[in-house]
Amino acid sequence: AKAQGRNGIAFYKQGMSDAVSRQLKLEVALRKAIEERQFRLYYQAQVNIGNGQVSGAEVLIRWNHPELGIIAPDEFISVLESSALISIVGQWVFETACYQLAQWVADGIWKDDYHLCINISPRQFRDTDFTAGIERVVKKTGVPAHCLEMEITENIVIYDLDKAIEIMRDLHGLGIRFSIDDFGTGYSSLRYIKRLPVNVLKIDRTFIQDMCTEKDDASIVDTIIAMARHMGLDVVAEGVETQDQLELLKSLGCPNYQGYYFSPPGTADEFKQLLLAA
Ligand code: C2E
Ligand code: CA
Ligand code: CA
Ligand code: CA
Repeated sequence: AKAQGRNGIAFYKQGMSDAVSRQLKLEVALRKAIEERQFRLYYQAQVNIGNGQVSGAEVLIRWNHPELGIIAPDEFISVLESSALISIVGQWVFETACYQLAQWVADGIWKDDYHLCINISPRQFRDTDFTAGIERVVKKTGVPAHCLEMEITENIVIYDLDKAIEIMRDLHGLGIRFSIDDFGTGYSSLRYIKRLPVNVLKIDRTFIQDMCTEKDDASIVDTIIAMARHMGLDVVAEGVETQDQLELLKSLGCPNYQGYYFSPPGTADEFKQLLLAA
């Protein structure tokens, strides 16, 4: 059950003349997708490098289009973000992931120190009722909030930074952790980033990809891991595909990783099998 980005591209091409009408048609299709519940959640394991055990999962959305099949998020997240539909879908992702987590907890297969990581668009931080909505879902589903982690990107600083920090503190109060996704790829200064109350840095997979052949990439990864250690932050390396990458990360003291080498994103049932095997 791999993502099929190409189907998404075919979708874009269907007799549409210009970029605007393409965007509009995609928006209409996405509204329909929301109404008809065409979105699905996939889960990708995070792994403790020290003992090779699962330490949690990242939640990744898919669009199960009735004709085109599974469409990857890169084809539609930006459209959702530009049209404010991201708030509706983002809320759905959070709620659905929490119900799933509650189920795994009830099944006795979710350990208390695992983390379920949910991508949050910077734009969701602008919703006036964002925190209240999260709090409501946490209460309603009864999930252990300390098992939840929100992945935000450095782009959060393009919005009101003080406001973002306030929201993060409120959610911290509930027990939710924060990570900075795609760390090292944004344009924001460390001066801003250090003000954000985060717990985890996720090293972008573009650095991992070439770290075994490019000295510069290896140094960047080394530096991020060292910096995180000094700041008391946890680290996850993303997009680990080979044993060589894993070995190098291990030698650099990276505590956790995620990637096809361990397992690709899969359905809730597929991830459950990983938990059962753990
Ligand atoms: P991301 O947050 O950086 O997620 C990691 C992406 O890397 C995922 O792509 C995942 O399938 C892919 N990946 C994982 N391991 C490997 C590997 O070993 N090699 C390679 N080449 N790729 C790997 P995916 O699922 O297509 O998601 C793309 C992006 O869409 C995500 O990037 C995230 O920015 C966004 N996204 C996904 N789900 C959500 C969501 O629920 N909400 C929001 N706001 N954004 C989401
Ligand atoms: Ca992510
Ligand atoms: Ca990422
Ligand atoms: Ca990314």
